[in-house]
Amino acid sequence: MKDLLLITPPFTQLNTPYPATAYLKGFLNTKNISSFQMDLGIEVILELFSKKTFETLFNIAKERDAVVSENAQRIYNLKDDYLTPLDAVVSFLQGKNQTLARQICTSNFLPRASRFNQLDDMDWAFGEMGMQDKAKHLATLYLEDLSDFIIECIDPNFGFSRYAERLGQSANAFHELHEQLQNEPTFIDAITLRILERCLKQVQPKLVCFSVPFPGNLYAAFRCAQYIKAHYPDLKTAMGGGFPNTELRSVTDQRVFEYFDFITLDDGELPIELLNAHIQNPTSKTFKRTFLLENDVVTYKNNATLPDYKQQQVGTPDYNDLLLDRYISVIEIANPMHSLWSDGRWNKLTMAHGCYWGKCTFCDISLDYIKIYEPIAAALLVDRMEQLMAQTGERGFHFVDEAAPPALMKALALEILKRKLTVTWWTNIRFEKNFTKDLCHLLKASGCIAVSRRIRSGLRPFIKTYR
Ligand code: SF4
Repeated sequence: MKDLLLITPPFTQLNTPYPATAYLKGFLNTKNISSFQMDLGIEVILELFSKKTFETLFNIAKERDAVVSENAQRIYNLKDDYLTPLDAVVSFLQGKNQTLARQICTSNFLPRASRFNQLDDMDWAFGEMGMQDKAKHLATLYLEDLSDFIIECIDPNFGFSRYAERLGQSANAFHELHEQLQNEPTFIDAITLRILERCLKQVQPKLVCFSVPFPGNLYAAFRCAQYIKAHYPDLKTAMGGGFPNTELRSVTDQRVFEYFDFITLDDGELPIELLNAHIQNPTSKTFKRTFLLENDVVTYKNNATLPDYKQQQVGTPDYNDLLLDRYISVIEIANPMHSLWSDGRWNKLTMAHGCYWGKCTFCDISLDYIKIYEPIAAALLVDRMEQLMAQTGERGFHFVDEAAPPALMKALALEILKRKLTVTWWTNIRFEKNFTKDLCHLLKASGCIAVSRRIRSGLRPFIKTYR
């Protein structure tokens, strides 16, 4: 039995956990508040992309007469060829069963549908020695063909790293999302809710907290919360994360609180600590940046006088409970620059709270999580890296700052070199003159293999990665 259950709802990424719940669990450890975390996304993907589930899924598609397009018909006609290697291919993408690469790279091992039409020049992309990466790319296309089949025949809302994203993008109106939630659970919802139920029985939490980073996680968070309210009416639910931080700052729709008892904004540590205190003792009514329903009115509570925790007080992210050896590394595009985002399991850390630059005109720099800049000392950062290596066995790090500060990157590199650590790391930056040639050489010597930068235009951000 645990006090809190922390959930990342489907879907974020396949190759590594989204770090928010690990950050919170690390902090809760420092307060002796017990918690269990789960990445519901990877658990649903693993159950969905299994031979057993796909057998059922092919039958349902046929019963519904949903196999219409030429592409879906081809996949259906070849269903035995798709089913036979499925479990082995997923295992290969989990980093097990590496010898399978040799078979995957032969021309007739995996069945092929439309995703293979645009197959890049594999020798250009992977060279003659890159057999593992080449096999990962082919295996990824094979899974994407199956994903196309799901979208056409079973559930148009499916995506590997998002679900029903469109509903999240218009969720401030909430009406459409609420309507959708009145429908019967979909095939994928049913898998999600089965796994959730198993976890609720095992953990028996008093509060379930959903971390919703993107619009593509919103629907599933609401579907899970709806299930909890229907089957565990005394169990409290809360939502926080990047999506509410930006899109729900002025939520007024009471119907949202049929699903969630609390919505917290910005840094989650203190709001969740206070929510836990409230759950343990309902007479405790001190809240930090928390929406709740009071006398049937959506009310914003921010009556805590305590300040947010400083970065040196929040502890080291704790990745326990997560299925670290079951994540799937995929290579979607035959371009080595892009593979960093989806290939390999990275420990995620931040170098600083907030943004050191804070001047971009299109950025809402009034938000605390951008405005309040607080770098973490390099020595503490490397302490945390060492703790994470001991816990996860992984020596790769992605620093997920919006824009890592060059001075801190330099201090970090020097600290890594001083401790003689062999690590691999990359981060996101904004281009500026402080990245001199000498600094780049120093960063490389410390294990920095790449930097990415987000380019924002009036239309949408896109990301370029350099290494
Ligand atoms: S660098 Fe990123 S986080 Fe910083 S101000 Fe610009 S857009 Fe905002």
